[in-house]
Amino acid sequence: MMEVCGGQTHSIIRHGIDQLLPETIELVHGPGCPVCVTPLETIDRALEIASRPDVVFCSFGDMLRVPGTDRDLFRVRGAGGDVRVVYSPLDALEIARHNPDREVVFFGVGFETTAPANAMTVHEARRRGVRNFSMLVSHVRVPPAIEAVMRAPHCRIQAFLAAGHVCSVMGTAEYPGLADRFEVPIVVTGFEPLDILEGVRRTVRQLERGEHRVENAYPRAVRTSGNPAARRMLEEVFEVTDRAWRGIGVIPDSGWRLSEAFREYDAEHRFAVTGITTRESDECRSGEVLQGLIKPNECAAFGTRCTPRNPLGATMVSSEGACAAYHLYRRLGGPVPGSAPAKEASPVG
Ligand code: SF4
Repeated sequence: MMEVCGGQTHSIIRHGIDQLLPETIELVHGPGCPVCVTPLETIDRALEIASRPDVVFCSFGDMLRVPGTDRDLFRVRGAGGDVRVVYSPLDALEIARHNPDREVVFFGVGFETTAPANAMTVHEARRRGVRNFSMLVSHVRVPPAIEAVMRAPHCRIQAFLAAGHVCSVMGTAEYPGLADRFEVPIVVTGFEPLDILEGVRRTVRQLERGEHRVENAYPRAVRTSGNPAARRMLEEVFEVTDRAWRGIGVIPDSGWRLSEAFREYDAEHRFAVTGITTRESDECRSGEVLQGLIKPNECAAFGTRCTPRNPLGATMVSSEGACAAYHLYRRLGGPVPGSAPAKEASPVG
């Protein structure tokens, strides 16, 4: 069964839940790490925009070490770029208000969880008349990713633990169609060890009974209708679009972009960036990791040429990346020469 969310992956590896389960149950790590799936072209675009002298580029901290084709945001900052870590998109809006002579860009990445706050910030920028603010949007949606996983040629997934926080925003209405079409149980699951074990228990019970339903094993946070106010904000500010996922490729209808009515706040339109030529690491197998085709420690570079300090791929950087989880909790898959001590392995430094 696939746990969709990288937060769940970290919880599973941290608490050794996969090792406690019988061998007949395998937990396969899914693509639910927003930092990991942000396409290389978008990273390179962010790097180019952040390098401009008139720009203040704001981002959550995780994105700063994600490797682009030849550098990352830390290097842009080291070379003099004004790259700032913020804890909320509203912080970026405040920076824009206090620096009317600069262009302030927020890097809006993430799943359905971060999208409402980003949508609300763009809405707020318009309401307050802040014209020097824009957002580089790379939002992704979980249900089309589940469909892509199920349609992949070598798919061996029989059930999903759906991401509880995503469903707390979006509700569960998008999932029964998927469960029916692919005949897989989908159990909405939380993040604490007992939440995950309860998700696994319910999933196994369905599989043993030959059922394929959507179940909510996280009722303390998730209602069928989700969060109506957040969903309204999403519908007002964003529109669904095809989106490329790093290491996976384009998944139809799997993303959001700013709608026509808010296009003037779209950094992609505000800054003409041309001539991007992307080049991924030849060694990195993060696409296979994100699709659950291999475990991180099956990659030859894991823990040697690729570590959290010197990542070759985004899955080794993010606090939700599967490679980072395996490195942090020492799932080395055998002796790994030259690997760093555990305390140095934190993916967030
Ligand atoms: S260990 Fe590093 S090189 Fe290998 S798949 Fe993960 S991020 Fe890529």
